[in-house]
Amino acid sequence: MNLARLLLRTALASPERPALYLGEELICDYGTLAGRAARVGGFLQGRLGLPPGARVGIWMANIPAYLEVLYGAWFAGLVVVPINAKLHPREAEYILRDAQATVLFVSEDLAGGIAPLLDGHPAIRHVFVPGTAEYRSLHTARPLGDIHQRDADDIAWLFYTSGTTGRPKGVMETHGNLLAMISCYFMDVDAPSGDDALVYAAPASHAAGMLNFPHVIAGARHIMPRSAGFDPAELVELASCHGRLSLFAAPTMIKRLVDHVRDAGADSSLFKTIVYGGGPMYVADVRQALDVMGNCFVQIYGQGESPMTITALGRHHLQDSGHPRYLERIASVGVAQSLVEVRVADSHGVTLPAGEAGEVLVRGPSVMRGYWNNPEATAKTVRDGWLFTGDVGCLDEDGFLTLKDRTKDVIISGGSNIYPREVEEVLLQHPQVHEVSVVGRPHAEWGEEVVAFVVVKSGCAIEAVELDSLCLQNIARFKRPKHYQFVHSLPKSNYGKVLKTALRESLAQE
Ligand code: AMP
Repeated sequence: MNLARLLLRTALASPERPALYLGEELICDYGTLAGRAARVGGFLQGRLGLPPGARVGIWMANIPAYLEVLYGAWFAGLVVVPINAKLHPREAEYILRDAQATVLFVSEDLAGGIAPLLDGHPAIRHVFVPGTAEYRSLHTARPLGDIHQRDADDIAWLFYTSGTTGRPKGVMETHGNLLAMISCYFMDVDAPSGDDALVYAAPASHAAGMLNFPHVIAGARHIMPRSAGFDPAELVELASCHGRLSLFAAPTMIKRLVDHVRDAGADSSLFKTIVYGGGPMYVADVRQALDVMGNCFVQIYGQGESPMTITALGRHHLQDSGHPRYLERIASVGVAQSLVEVRVADSHGVTLPAGEAGEVLVRGPSVMRGYWNNPEATAKTVRDGWLFTGDVGCLDEDGFLTLKDRTKDVIISGGSNIYPREVEEVLLQHPQVHEVSVVGRPHAEWGEEVVAFVVVKSGCAIEAVELDSLCLQNIARFKRPKHYQFVHSLPKSNYGKVLKTALRESLAQE
């Protein structure tokens, strides 16, 4: 078992099939892509002598070389450590050191920033920059004759958590975990075909990169945008060149894409499948997205510890607007994916009845082997085979999971739990609210009080009293914000997630 077989199989059956594009330009077909990966693997194993299981750091923007480096490492039985290209060089260096990576592939735009940190580095011995002559020489190495045999339990991808509450941890995702993820993708998310075109508009170090697998299996086209990132206008252009696109996008990106398609009057049928997840997508935004773009959306809920694979909310549920619980369903993250079990439990791990909120637990073949070099954290997070996700949610009678918030984001005021998501959903009903985030601030009498950060749509103005009365009409009095802070934007992580920790810190500094 080895993920590299997925590429080899497609390449053997259909070598001439177009595989990789930079914007509208064809870079190579499947035969060439697999051939290059076999040579990269041959170089790493044969010339550098890397033993199976050695770690290969990948700190690259979304450039065409991404796939050949990933698969090249797997050809040789190595472990990839993809690092978000938007991180600071010091953060990237921390990950490389923690992973004890000995080789680094770094894109040209990032190479200069990290070079000084690699001088005399304790682990990194070799650095390759795609586009340089030295990198091209990898393509002349002797290709590996055979893919290195791996077991289901061998690590394929060391995935670093975003580390919003401390140093990032390396999640050991095995070949078996990722194959389970891929199976669920075909069953619960989307079944790509050879006609599909997958565009990498979000960091390939995360979910966007993992979508490569089902599309490699299908022999679909892989498109790296020239911007190497997310640009709604560029996506519309790419779609007019390649046909309907598929992509992964964080909810904040979808909002921008939908606004662009609507404002530019662009053709809304240019997207085949948009997989969203990684953070909450509010009901008002889901409805607008469906109105403007039609039924091309599928939601996934996962985390590095069970990559992309906890629940999914499929097209049929998003489309079923006549269902009596339609609004609750589109506010949920859907139902357990086919190969995993999901339950909601109290702090002792005891299952709670439907409708009660508790921690979300998941068990199944996608759950990580553990945290890299961190058995204590592993023991705390995976107990009796169940992954404790740190997310609070509740299941309904039909098996739909609604996420409330991360356990640490729940506000406890006067002894009652307040889930920020519930308050945010209400505030977003105001037509002039663009974005909102609700956090708790320490309060001498109540323990915590609710504060809302609000971004108003451009050219609009809102009084706090309007938002207060909206809350009074929709939720219990004690849940409504005691303070509103009107801001120009919300702090976001490199994956587009709102950083509640930063909001809480800004309140603490006041
Ligand atoms: P990461 O490990 O960086 O992918 O982050 C995973 C976390 O993102 C989860 O534990 C959730 O808190 C959040 N998340 C992922 N998918 C969703 C989703 N569909 N809706 C809401 N939050 C999500």
